[in-house]
Amino acid sequence: MDQTKIDVLRAQPLSAFTHLIDGKQVPASDGGTMDVISPIDGQVITTMAAGTAADMEAAIASARAAFEDGRWAGQPPAARKKVLLKWADLIEANALELAVLGVRDNGTEIGMAIKAEPGSAAATIRYYAEALDKIYGEIAPTPGDILGLVHKEPVGVVGAIIPWNFPMMIGAWKLGPALAMGNSVVLKPAETASLSLMRMAELALEAGLPPGVLNAVTGEGRVVGETLGLSMDVDVLVFTGSGGTGRRLMEYSARSNMKRVYLELGGKSPNIVFADAPNLDEAAKVAASGIFRNSGQVCVAGSRLLVEAAIHDEFVAKVAQAAEAMRVGDPLKVDTHVGAVNSEEQLKANLGFVEIAKTEGGEVVTGGDRILQDTGGYYMAPTIVTGVTRDATLAQKEVFGPVLGVTPFETEGEAIALANSTVYGLAGAAWTSNLGRAHRMVRGVRTGVMHINTYGGADGTVPLGGVGQSGNGADKSLHAIEKYVNLKTAWIKL
Ligand code: ADP
Repeated sequence: MDQTKIDVLRAQPLSAFTHLIDGKQVPASDGGTMDVISPIDGQVITTMAAGTAADMEAAIASARAAFEDGRWAGQPPAARKKVLLKWADLIEANALELAVLGVRDNGTEIGMAIKAEPGSAAATIRYYAEALDKIYGEIAPTPGDILGLVHKEPVGVVGAIIPWNFPMMIGAWKLGPALAMGNSVVLKPAETASLSLMRMAELALEAGLPPGVLNAVTGEGRVVGETLGLSMDVDVLVFTGSGGTGRRLMEYSARSNMKRVYLELGGKSPNIVFADAPNLDEAAKVAASGIFRNSGQVCVAGSRLLVEAAIHDEFVAKVAQAAEAMRVGDPLKVDTHVGAVNSEEQLKANLGFVEIAKTEGGEVVTGGDRILQDTGGYYMAPTIVTGVTRDATLAQKEVFGPVLGVTPFETEGEAIALANSTVYGLAGAAWTSNLGRAHRMVRGVRTGVMHINTYGGADGTVPLGGVGQSGNGADKSLHAIEKYVNLKTAWIKL
């Protein structure tokens, strides 16, 4: 990555962002705007449309019309594939510009953002583009002179509500399979990270996606997000974000048309280190990067470190050393390891969790504070708290910040019991040289993703999703397609 190019891009003034409805850029119907504040320095960098319920309804109506007239679903698969591949190419061609725009908006360090955001978004869209003409129905082994066919049909209009930590990547996890299967989509980016996703959506039109097939509306979740959730004209809602909002989306569904709702929610993922780990230095470095990159704003972050008591002090010292070696600061400097916390509100919440941890007997080994306040930005030192008991707030509640809680254990059974002691079940890891133990951990820890001697595998060929209150309906891989199709059975008398 070229620092000079990044510096040029970051200095570019931004014009106001609008909605994207029916292939056109449109302001909010009442002219309302929201300031976009950069977490890098707390400055307003542009404005975006503060969507109204009417704006969202217009977007849904446009998506519905586009679906009903078959302008996308009715195209031959090869034609849809061509458009999506072109879109992936355009995202790649504009990768640095998109990444810098996204970082100015959400604060993720550029080294991570360039790979995880445009890089992974383009790869995801390409993956589903390539898959779309290889997915078809079934002929059932029905008896006698009757033929049973199972069709896979697009569901219709998909509402996609996206969080602020990785807007392009997570956006693509929903948009890729939804559009590949012929659906129309109404996108609702997060208040504090809309810009890059809005730009990415515009590129879809440039690639040839017909107007109305992808509409995007910015604004407050409780205004435009609620309208999307309550719509009678949205068939499937897909979401990544907090448990509280996930619960609300299920309520919206129940109160309206009982649309299918797929939720990817938070986690309190256990990273379990046994004394027989193959390499404790490596485990410590990965434990630190697994919680502190992107300021801990990663749904699969290993936020609970469970350490075998015999190596507790030694291992915590190694993780603290790795944490202190991480450079926190301007996310648009290529040598920064940890960028800015997404918003002042999130930073305050993170610091609040540290205070609670202290009152519950936790000891802050490193970090714990806001730093670089003179920049005007929102930065927090990577924070490690030891002495976190099983039921402590830090062991039970997702922080979504750079805060690692440490809990010792004596036996494998105790490690599994601790690992499974939250309402969540998104990710986890175990570090051990014992093959049998490795498999027992994979079986025993209740999660959607389990790592052995590594953390944070990110390939698009495998599902990513949780169990329990971490959600349902994994993103990524061919399995994700199921969320965006209806099965229809046809009986044909021969
Ligand atoms: P966080 O609390 O970390 O910001 P949220 O779950 O609130 O996480 O945000 C994730 C996404 O959900 C954002 O796009 C946000 O606008 C949206 N959202 C928030 N509240 C609602 C709501 N009541 N209805 C629909 N969407 C919402």
